[in-house]
Amino acid sequence: MPASLSPTARTTLHRSKERGRSARDDLYAILDSGVLCHLGVVVDGSPMVVPTGYGRIGDTLYLHGSTGARSLREALDNDVCVTVTHLDGIVLARSIFHHSVNYRSAMIYGRARQVTDPDERLAGLRALSERLAPGQWDAVRPPSRKELAATEVLALSLDEASVKARQGPPGDELEDYALPIWAGVLPLRTFWGEPEPDPELSERLQVPAHIANRSPLGSLP
Ligand SMILES: Cc1cc2nc3c(=O)[nH]c(=O)nc-3n(C[C@H](O)[C@H](O)[C@H](O)COP(=O)(O)OP(=O)(O)OC[C@H]3O[C@@H](n4cnc5c(N)ncnc54)[C@H](O)[C@@H]3O)c2cc1C
Repeated sequence: MPASLSPTARTTLHRSKERGRSARDDLYAILDSGVLCHLGVVVDGSPMVVPTGYGRIGDTLYLHGSTGARSLREALDNDVCVTVTHLDGIVLARSIFHHSVNYRSAMIYGRARQVTDPDERLAGLRALSERLAPGQWDAVRPPSRKELAATEVLALSLDEASVKARQGPPGDELEDYALPIWAGVLPLRTFWGEPEPDPELSERLQVPAHIANRSPLGSLP
């Protein structure tokens, strides 16, 4: 895929265009810093937006769920829109109008493909698992044939995508800068907490390093 995101009619920004990012690496950075996305699909003529996990391999996003999930079934027959959003801070301005948020977000449009090849299904599921809990795929019992049969795996190309990001202080009206009102950014940071052992856990088991030492979620380059 080209290093730049090529805008289509759907992915051309109309508002706050200066916040658009065209580097494909920025898209990857946003996807690789998140753990969940929102899958938007039209079900019976009505929009439905489902929070769900995802994984990325190259220029393909993998989604999964129960074979009975309506959102996934409908995603196979219709265009979908997937978003990943990171809220980085609340932008506090001198006027209420100019309050804003600092964020990084990506939107992907396309038609999902049902993954039927067993190797690709496993690779997609592994990518999903690694996004949510890096290291777990190799540390726990692998999926059984029955579990795999109950799982739908969809692939969505990252061909048609847009990225938008806001950083920095508020942009107030010139005449408002003299007002005696505090302005700035209240950053929002996401940290992993202390692992909480399952009460059923054998006391002899220590928290594995890949869980105890999990890296923080990333940011834009
Ligand atoms: C956490 C968060 C909170 C926000 N709160 C507000 C708010 O309260 N009010 C508000 O007006 N806006 C808010 N935004 C910005 C909002 O997401 C849209 O970018 C903005 O409203 C423009 O919408 P539009 O309908 O004019 O889209 P258009 O500019 O017409 O969208 C055209 C295309 O641009 C791309 N695009 C648009 N927005 C985004 C995006 N955020 N990320 C990636 N691609 C995008 C898509 O491909 C879309 O199809 C927020 C964004 C985030 C991440």
